[in-house]
Amino acid sequence: SRRKELVVEELVNGILKGSKTALGQAITLVESNQPKHQEKAARIIEKSLPFANKSLRIGITGVPGVGKSTFIEAFGSYLANSGKKVGVLAVDPTSSVSGGSILGDKTRMETLVNHKNAFIRPSPSGDALGGVAKKTRETIILCEAAGFDTLLIETVGVGQSETTVHSMTDFFLLLKLAGAGDELQGIKRGIMEMADAIVINKADGDNIKPAEKARSEFRRALHLYPAKASGWTPKVLLCSAYENTGIEEVWNLISEFQEQTKASGHFSSKRQEQNKFWLLQTINEHLKRRFYQHPKIKELLPLQLTALEKNETTAFEAAALLLKAYEK
Ligand code: GDP
Repeated sequence: SRRKELVVEELVNGILKGSKTALGQAITLVESNQPKHQEKAARIIEKSLPFANKSLRIGITGVPGVGKSTFIEAFGSYLANSGKKVGVLAVDPTSSVSGGSILGDKTRMETLVNHKNAFIRPSPSGDALGGVAKKTRETIILCEAAGFDTLLIETVGVGQSETTVHSMTDFFLLLKLAGAGDELQGIKRGIMEMADAIVINKADGDNIKPAEKARSEFRRALHLYPAKASGWTPKVLLCSAYENTGIEEVWNLISEFQEQTKASGHFSSKRQEQNKFWLLQTINEHLKRRFYQHPKIKELLPLQLTALEKNETTAFEAAALLLKAYEK
């Protein structure tokens, strides 16, 4: 309708001018599950797409308490002060369950939240990872269209959320703490392969020596992994988000990564791979939803599950029956 188109036009114009208010309102539409909001959101994204894709997307992960918020406050402020436009997003599929989403407590990012060059948005809530991921992907597009050139996408290491953030970012940073010599234990499988940098935080005070020891151990461990397709060798750095040390080094490293992978063509080919992945992912999600919401399936699935429990059918037989009922 005319009115819908007007709202869309107005928000897109605001976004392209860099208005944080318009950006925030558009993201609220993206995050809404109401069909009429989703329609508007889809139009806004479509119109923003030609202006997107121009940022550096940095994924940041680490266990709760490692200092992600404090690090993002320090790192983000450093970037914002040097003239970058910084967007901070989060992917936290547990936020709806736990009630407290990451970045929800904005008081931990006091400086950044009030910085004219920064935009902070907590994780969308009330969804499974698939839904949160889709909304974050779309939010990335809107932030980029609004001129935010450096995006920090935070995640807690829950379930598949790290893999999800890795699949939508250019550079993946793992925050760690120095422990009592057991740094390499309890590290999630796969995470070392994903990391482009490991940054050992809280390298201050009495923690400096243990942090240096941890750095050596991680460096040694990283040598055991096969070379990355990007040609990039992951690095290990120390920092203190508290004392603001090592922050610039992290940025220099990421810049080096960016230069190297842009020169080799890996930067853009990885984004293309990610886009293909998201296209397929979007179709998969859509088909899955269509299947499970189909009236026939809603009726037959519980019956087949009961039959399976009673050994009256097999999983394959039941699946074949359901798929046939859906396709009819
Ligand atoms: P998150 O759960 O990963 O977001 O961690 P927070 O940023 O909330 O930090 C957890 C705790 O570690 C807080 O009490 C911080 O004050 C503290 N912390 C964060 N960064 C540093 C640091 O560089 N040095 C020290 N000593 N403490 C830190």
